[in-house]
Amino acid sequence: MAEECDTCGRSVTVDEAIRRETVGDLDSDRWQTLCCPDCGARLRTVFVGPDS
Ligand SMILES: [Zn+2]
Repeated sequence: MAEECDTCGRSVTVDEAIRRETVGDLDSDRWQTLCCPDCGARLRTVFVGPDS
């Protein structure tokens, strides 16, 4: 599954995307923001946890 970057048009897979902490009040253990590896634009916020 891939996201398309609105800024540079690149198709970015989840593995390629840069993961950053979300802005705001979301728990960073559970939510991460996926960013484009080329231009750094935010692609989407994903639920990543908790690991059990
Ligand atoms: Zn981009």
